[in-house]
Amino acid sequence: MESNRRSFLKIGGICALGLGALPVVEALAATDLPKVMSEPRALVGKKWGMVVDMKKCWEKGKPGCKDCMLACHRTHNVPDIGTVKEEIKWIWTEPFECTFPTLDNEFSVENAKERPYIVLCNHCTNPPCVRVCPTQATWKRPEDGIVMMDFHRCIGCRYCMAACPYGARSFNFREPRPFIQTELNMTFPTRDRGVVEKCNFCYERLAAGLIPACVEACKCQALCFGDLEDPNSDVRKLLASRFTMRRKPELGTQPNVYYIV
Ligand code: SF4
Repeated sequence: MESNRRSFLKIGGICALGLGALPVVEALAATDLPKVMSEPRALVGKKWGMVVDMKKCWEKGKPGCKDCMLACHRTHNVPDIGTVKEEIKWIWTEPFECTFPTLDNEFSVENAKERPYIVLCNHCTNPPCVRVCPTQATWKRPEDGIVMMDFHRCIGCRYCMAACPYGARSFNFREPRPFIQTELNMTFPTRDRGVVEKCNFCYERLAAGLIPACVEACKCQALCFGDLEDPNSDVRKLLASRFTMRRKPELGTQPNVYYIV
């Protein structure tokens, strides 16, 4: 949506400069959108999804490992505010009762209650956050299902936060830039006070042919990312061969993050 708007404005700008006689195709070629879309290295999928193997994380990961979170936060200039109320979260851990609050049988997972679960935006197939946004600052990409966020279009109403049943969105109550503890990633935008943010499935890395930063950083391969529409993808193979769960399936949001526990 934002890209279309940007393309439109650029074409408008070209016309205003007296180049209106250019064929539309030529005008479109002058925008940055086609270049991004035609990046030969870009990873392309019809419906991106993730399988989080908590067994691997618990059994193979070092105690207290935060590699996935640190990689994500470093990649996306996520501030570390230092208070629970104002925490900005893209990928983080939750206890069992917050991750799977409606699971019938808590005893189906051994020691389930003592262990932390990795959580992130589920890039739901039916995302309530998108439905309630009055400015279309958040939208679902039709080509690959990523639930996107336009920081510039966000007016900070926080309807999306109220609508998300997974607490996957964070609000910048204060100017976040002084709280970025890692070296600034100049290729990704920082945010402003009054803006909502969340995991974006590393769409910017996919466009450059890279897998999500969290997946790349996990040394025990507990995170598997791929195209859910591709029957030969690793995610589909895992879903076909292992018992998996999704968070709060009864809500009908259809999360695209699955769990092996
Ligand atoms: Fe929206 Fe929350 Fe689903 Fe992410 S997890 S798509 S923020 S409803």
